[in-house]
Amino acid sequence: MRLATAEIDLSALSYNLKRTKALAPNSKVMAVLKANAYGHGLVTIAQHLHDADAFAVARIDEALALRAGGVTKPIVLLEGFFNQSDVSILLANNFQTIIHDENQLGMLEQAQLDAPIATWLKVDTGMHRLGIAPAQLSAFYQRLKKTENAKPAVYLMTHFPCADDVKNDRTAQQIREFKQLTLNYNEPLCLANSAGILGWRDSHCDWIRPGLMIYGVSPMLHCIGKDHGLKAVMRLTTKVIAIRSILSGEYVGYGGRWQSEKNTQLAIVAMGYGDGYPRHAKHGTPVVIKGERYGIVGSVSMDMITVDIGDNDGMIQVGDDVEMWGRALPVEEVAACADTIPYELLCNITPRVSYEYI
Ligand code: PLP
Repeated sequence: MRLATAEIDLSALSYNLKRTKALAPNSKVMAVLKANAYGHGLVTIAQHLHDADAFAVARIDEALALRAGGVTKPIVLLEGFFNQSDVSILLANNFQTIIHDENQLGMLEQAQLDAPIATWLKVDTGMHRLGIAPAQLSAFYQRLKKTENAKPAVYLMTHFPCADDVKNDRTAQQIREFKQLTLNYNEPLCLANSAGILGWRDSHCDWIRPGLMIYGVSPMLHCIGKDHGLKAVMRLTTKVIAIRSILSGEYVGYGGRWQSEKNTQLAIVAMGYGDGYPRHAKHGTPVVIKGERYGIVGSVSMDMITVDIGDNDGMIQVGDDVEMWGRALPVEEVAACADTIPYELLCNITPRVSYEYI
């Protein structure tokens, strides 16, 4: 019997990409596939995003895995590269790279290359993670234009730290500043992540970089994918592997952190932090069995979770399916119950979970 399974709905994926393009009809799409396509399976997801114009990953290994899987679309490295030998890997595999600091630009300038590499110059307008300072733009741009190792078009990009909150005007300020800064450059601009696409129309520009939303999940505060017309791509399921009766006053699970206040029944569910389910999911975090929600009780352990199914009366049986998140239970809701974000839950799925593409 197959236990922990991530069911990946590829028609929902295509639907979400279509929806994304409808929201930003004049922008090209760089679909973000880092961290195993947010836990959905890197190569399979890439192969089904026919209408994306390019893909983005964080690391060279991820980009190489895409090429090894037969993916021929442009691939952009969001972290760029870190040593001289990487530069020839970029060229040999036709990767595009972000340039976010002096080291990278220096290495690119010094490389002995037979052909140029496409570059995305990243400007830090407030994230303070990667990117050159706005005041450095002109100097970096001139050097990229001059070196024969960079293609003539230099894409200009920036990233938002707070676009998930439509009440925070730092994003509007970033958009204004970036557009002002790049006004006279006549190069393609790329600003918007999913939150930018959903919440900040002015950020759409020539390219967009959606990640989370193509998987049908909302990055916006207090929202779920459905609120934006998106469909959840991943449905994480498992099975009930035992049913237990316990008496009022008995403690459940490691550390005895939950004590039952009534005689009740527990469904023991084959899913735990060894599968990527969050160990800090609070008491009461929902799961769905036979269309009904039930709350988890006690600590999440490596392989199992205990669910209070009350006076079950034979309704729930060993072997029944349990949805941990997916269509009936948004991953955003489970993330909130574990004090984290849906991104973390999706990319934490471990190799023990089987994938089923439908
Ligand atoms: N652009 C950059 C530079 C990123 O680091 C990310 C993801 O973290 C994205 C775009 C996609 O973000 P999201 O998944 O919120 O759409």
